Amino acid sequence: MPQTPTPTAVADAHTRIIGWFDAHARDLPWRRDECTPWGVMVSEFMLQQTPVARVLPVWTEWMRRWPTPADLAAEPSPEILRAWGRLGYPRRALRLHAAAQTIMDEHDGEVPNTAAELKALPGVGEYTSAAIACFAFDQPEVVVDTNIRRVHARAFSGRALPEKSLTRAEMSLATELMPADPEQACRWNAATMELGALVCTARSPQCRVCPVSASCAWLVAGSPEAHYQPKGQSWAGTDRQLRGAIMALLRSHDGGTALTAIRQRVEESLSPDDAQFDRCVSSLVADGLAERTGDELSLPRS
Ligand code: SF4
Repeated sequence: MPQTPTPTAVADAHTRIIGWFDAHARDLPWRRDECTPWGVMVSEFMLQQTPVARVLPVWTEWMRRWPTPADLAAEPSPEILRAWGRLGYPRRALRLHAAAQTIMDEHDGEVPNTAAELKALPGVGEYTSAAIACFAFDQPEVVVDTNIRRVHARAFSGRALPEKSLTRAEMSLATELMPADPEQACRWNAATMELGALVCTARSPQCRVCPVSASCAWLVAGSPEAHYQPKGQSWAGTDRQLRGAIMALLRSHDGGTALTAIRQRVEESLSPDDAQFDRCVSSLVADGLAERTGDELSLPRS
């Protein structure tokens, strides 16, 4: 059973991990002082399922085109889906658009500054509301993403991986680990997340350069194996791949495209499942990502 870390161990981890962050944090545009709360919010939507390297160019262009919620709210959705490009999970783009419209309707065009108000926006869940409140408004919210969970599991609980889904025990540990000072609390969240992204990675933790290697509970326990085998994300032949291929085609056309032509063009993404193409078309339409008119498919027209 993992021991609760002592206050001295927690204070030591704060100093070491925040100190490491001060020296090694990546200079990301949404972390800079001049970044607006809207810029932070856009980054959090994009980073939900996509690595930083792929988000960077899309975020930069997005903020150039739509620097405020008002700019995005006024844009028709086809343009937004085009700009989302190949970030994946494009429903996030529609939700961000809907969130911008709610910000205009209910918050005078300003991103709200509390986690509770943020959580009421379309597409904003527990994690995203806490992250925006913390990183945009310095609110000491407990932020728990995959990277933070992995660092907590290893450094404090002595396990190779956290549980498959977030548990109460993890939330209590994360809450316990938060520094009392609000500014430090936000820095702690960002620092632990960065440590998980750059050093304490899922497959090959770089313990030799880790600031908490001397006290890491996982190393102390002899680096035990994970208590389950994480599933790799399959891609080839999946509906996700086919939906992505169809969306890429729709983004490259202004008008509608015949379904037969789309089917031919995405041939190499099709699995042997005969129903897959129709199923993916129907799900794209149901998700509001595509519009079907007779035998043609297009991006939504408004
Ligand atoms: S010492 Fe290794 S396992 Fe422990 S927190 Fe650091 S990188 Fe992760």
